[in-house]
Amino acid sequence: MEFLRPASWDEALAAMAEHPGALPISGGTDVMVELNFDLRRPPAVLDLNRVAELAEWSSDGASVRLGAAVPYARIIDELSGPLPGLATAARTVGSPQIRNRGSVGGNLGAASPAGDAHPPLLAAGRGVRVEAHSVRGVRLIPIDEFYLGVKRNCLAPDELIRAVRIPVADGPQQFSKVGTRNAMVIAVCAFALALHPADGTVGTGIGSAAPTPRRAPEAEEYLRESLDWTSGGPLDPQVPLRFGELVAAAADPIDDVRGTAAYRRHALAVLARRTLAWCWDDYREQLGRTA
Ligand SMILES: Cc1cc2nc3c(=O)[nH]c(=O)nc-3n(C[C@H](O)[C@H](O)[C@H](O)COP(=O)(O)OP(=O)(O)OC[C@H]3O[C@@H](n4cnc5c(N)ncnc54)[C@H](O)[C@@H]3O)c2cc1C
Repeated sequence: MEFLRPASWDEALAAMAEHPGALPISGGTDVMVELNFDLRRPPAVLDLNRVAELAEWSSDGASVRLGAAVPYARIIDELSGPLPGLATAARTVGSPQIRNRGSVGGNLGAASPAGDAHPPLLAAGRGVRVEAHSVRGVRLIPIDEFYLGVKRNCLAPDELIRAVRIPVADGPQQFSKVGTRNAMVIAVCAFALALHPADGTVGTGIGSAAPTPRRAPEAEEYLRESLDWTSGGPLDPQVPLRFGELVAAAADPIDDVRGTAAYRRHALAVLARRTLAWCWDDYREQLGRTA
């Protein structure tokens, strides 16, 4: 197996063009497991750790351009304000060691339906774009179109993720997941919710309950119409119930060692109700309403 260590982004793209079967490695928290367990034997591994710009983020105030290799620990420390949903999800990833190495670029590269970055990225709005680069040019891929199947994304063999562009939160965002314990587990199911008061819309993201991470469009539409955005009045008790049902209906879970499909649907409805209550409380507080 060849080991490629480009010193710059251009060198990395050139290496990917020359070695289309090369497996990029960033934090290595997925790749090293696969190599150690002999689940994968790529002809070459392309180490991205010398490409400094991948570990940087920037913001123009309206959106954040998050370098593919920025580790979860820095998202928690530096981006909880503009990206609260993603930061909340990042807090639940693995352990401190995994959060120091693992990245959103790696989560997207792996494209596991259980990846914790996916639900908050889907919920953050249709403006989220994955920046895919190759020697042929740059593609800005809408997040909804990125996931193709279980552990499959739409990157071409010579493409690398440079960054993810994420709109700065304009309202409350929450993430919650169910696991068999609090840390170091793959989610049984996960859910992210984002309220977008700027245009009165709602974003959702479901994890670990379908072949790909996915949104719950009917639930989003129902909530958009049901919320009292202007006065921020208390939630009608029927609203969280119906919202939970619609989220559960949008999932397409399987029975596996971590849980049954029926349990996943049930748990998703609970997570949907819970995150809605948290988000609505935050929203009311922002409007100056007391509970
Ligand atoms: C003990 C343990 C606990 C874990 N817990 C969680 C958890 O709670 N939640 C969770 O979501 N994940 C978890 N993971 C999985 C893993 O940490 C995450 O998926 C992480 O986001 C991977 O990031 P990375 O930088 O380490 O990726 P890597 O392992 O370096 O790469 C992962 C994949 O992405 C590709 N890739 C990396 N960078 C790029 C790029 N720039 N462009 C294109 N492709 C790229 C690689 O080729 C590979 O296919 C855990 C892993 C371990 C070992």
